[in-house]
Amino acid sequence: MRAVVVGSGAGGATAARELAKRGVEATVLEAGDPFKPMTRTIGWARPLRRAGLLGSERTIARVFPHMEARRSSEDLVLVRGVTLGGCTAVSTGNAVRGDGALREIGLDLSPEFEELERLMGVTTVPRGRWRPLTGRMFDEAEAIGLSPRPTPKAVDVARCASCGMCELGCATGAKWDSRRFIEDMRRTGGTVRTGAAVTRVVVEGGRARGVMVGKERVDADVVVLAAGGIGTAAVLKASGLPARDSLWVDIVLTVGGVLEGARMLDEPPMVWYASRDGYILSPYIDVLSHWFHPPWRDVAVEDRVGVMVKLADEATGSVAADGTVRKALTEVDRTRLGEATALARRVMEASGVHGPFVEGMLNGGHMGGTVPLAREDVAAMRPPWLPEGLWVADLSLVPRSQGLPTMLLAAALGLRVARTIARR
Ligand SMILES: Cc1cc2nc3c(=O)[nH]c(=O)nc-3n(C[C@H](O)[C@H](O)[C@H](O)COP(=O)(O)OP(=O)(O)OC[C@H]3O[C@@H](n4cnc5c(N)ncnc54)[C@H](O)[C@@H]3O)c2cc1C
Repeated sequence: MRAVVVGSGAGGATAARELAKRGVEATVLEAGDPFKPMTRTIGWARPLRRAGLLGSERTIARVFPHMEARRSSEDLVLVRGVTLGGCTAVSTGNAVRGDGALREIGLDLSPEFEELERLMGVTTVPRGRWRPLTGRMFDEAEAIGLSPRPTPKAVDVARCASCGMCELGCATGAKWDSRRFIEDMRRTGGTVRTGAAVTRVVVEGGRARGVMVGKERVDADVVVLAAGGIGTAAVLKASGLPARDSLWVDIVLTVGGVLEGARMLDEPPMVWYASRDGYILSPYIDVLSHWFHPPWRDVAVEDRVGVMVKLADEATGSVAADGTVRKALTEVDRTRLGEATALARRVMEASGVHGPFVEGMLNGGHMGGTVPLAREDVAAMRPPWLPEGLWVADLSLVPRSQGLPTMLLAAALGLRVARTIARR
């Protein structure tokens, strides 16, 4: 059996690895180029930032070539990794089990989570490696009843250099990303092509027969779309298939404060998190705000303090066949964001952080929801409107936003989908 897997992020790499392991002839088609850590760029970007020449989100891809940033409405920027490894290559390595939205439709991914946590080496960063302020904020969050806990991380703590710049790629290789699964797949006979953007699925006689990469046709018995929340929906629509206009993105807003000598970048980001109803708070210097958001410009990174809010947003976005995304904040999103940012500021102030407090760039980097699974689809792991032979193995399957890290969830879905394909 020949399978084409579109996308090499958390979902695609995990599915492809599993298919290859089970004797399927697997080929991964990835739109982006091979990933190189972007930490070197920082040297020349620093003086440009100070001079206010880095502009806005429009320059992100020029400074960090594997990141794509686009505005989906006046106030929201969507960010994704378009490279081998997808968003995992630019992730901060948080590996939380965020599966409430699937449990409520009867899908239990616990076995996949357990297996993947072992493979990824998920652990927590010991308190001795946190900056003193981060520990103080943890204690204050605890004192006001937020029940913070150390964040599970797919990071080898012994190899981590605490450079604080996971999103630019891990220079020491301490952080897991899905390129490791791509390597495993290669070792078991699978192949990968980079720079191969799939434009549509070839459907003949009601069955998926392959994909088009520009003018080239790639034949397959099984097509697995794992191009992420934007890519999968765009390919489906370009193939005349009805991806839903129910995109969610997990809205991120980091509240910035100041404490001289805090040096928050000298630790891995987000070492703890506090989970509330529909959002989390976590200590984080938002790299995009620091570099590209004008209100953050006046404070040196050594003195900048950040607490991030990651919000479960309403699933109201749409992706067009050409990849254009429309997604704005709703009134409900804004109200809950206001509550969450006030809490973030309270934790900082209680820990000795002072103003001026500034809000960061409103952004979303966890995209999904356009091929939502329903309770009746759980056994088959696919909605019935997909043509035979066509599968989806990424966050597109998740019916609603949870305001939690998504990498482990996307990988667990990839694993379950691949096993379902192999069983059939
Ligand atoms: C800056 C940043 C930091 C993050 N940090 C964390 C974190 O710490 N923890 C966490 O859990 N989550 C994090 N995430 C989110 C998480 O990494 C993603 O939600 C997860 O990787 C999604 O997996 P996926 O397989 O659905 O999509 P992706 O990982 O986005 O993979 C999709 C792949 O498909 C490719 N592609 C797209 N279109 C096409 C096409 N037409 N043809 C071929 N290939 C295509 C893309 O280039 C990409 O490689 C972060 C995201 C960002 C942007």
